Amino acid sequence: MLNLVLFGPPGAGKGTQSQKLIEKYGLIHLSTGDLLRSEISQGTALGLEAKKLMDQGILVPDEVVIGMISHKLDDNKAAQGFIFDGFPRTVAQAEALDQLLETKNAPISGMIALEVNDTELEHRLLLRGKESGRPDDANPEVIRKRIKEYKDKTAPVAGFYEKQNKFRGINGVGTEEDVFKAICAIVDSY
Ligand code: AMP
Repeated sequence: MLNLVLFGPPGAGKGTQSQKLIEKYGLIHLSTGDLLRSEISQGTALGLEAKKLMDQGILVPDEVVIGMISHKLDDNKAAQGFIFDGFPRTVAQAEALDQLLETKNAPISGMIALEVNDTELEHRLLLRGKESGRPDDANPEVIRKRIKEYKDKTAPVAGFYEKQNKFRGINGVGTEEDVFKAICAIVDSY
C-alpha cells in the first residue's frame, strides 16, 4: 500500500498535484478541506460549526478531522493507497493517523512537502479566491491568518515525519509539470 502525505502551506499546490497523483498511481484522495466544504454544502451540524472557524482561517478541532479521516479509511478498505492532502495539520493529528494506519498494517510511505515562499502563496490564494469563490481565499487578512496557523501549528508536523526518516521537501515553485515530475521521482523510489 502506498500512503502519501502531501504537505505544504495553503496555496502550495497540494490539491492540483493530488489530482495528477491519483490518476497516475490509482490512489484515493483524502482532503480534509474538501470533506469539510462538502459538510458545509450539505448543511450538516458539523459543517456549520466548522464554517465559523474556516471563514476566519482557524483550524477546526483535531477530533473533528480525525473522525472524518477514520470514517473514510473504513469506507475504502480495498484501496491501493491514499493521498492525505491538508491532513495531518497538527502533531496530534499525525499521531492519530499513525495509530489508525497501524491497525491496517499500512504505514505512511512518506511525506512530500511543497516549499513555496509567502509572497507567492498570497498571490496564488488571492487569484484562486477570484476563480473559485472560496470565501477563505478572498480576504487577505484571512489568508495571512491561515499562513500563520500553518507556521504555528502545522509546520512542526514536518519534524514528526523527519524523526521517522520519512520527510522529503521539494521546490513547489515552477510549472505544474516540473513539480509533478519531482514528486513522481520520490514516489517511484518508495
Ligand atoms: P484547505 O482546503 O486544506 O485549505 O482547508 C481549508 C480550511 O479547512 C482550513 O483553513 C481549516 O480551517 C480547515 N481544515 C482543513 N483541514 C484541516 C485539518 N487537517 N485540521 C484542522 N482544520 C482543517
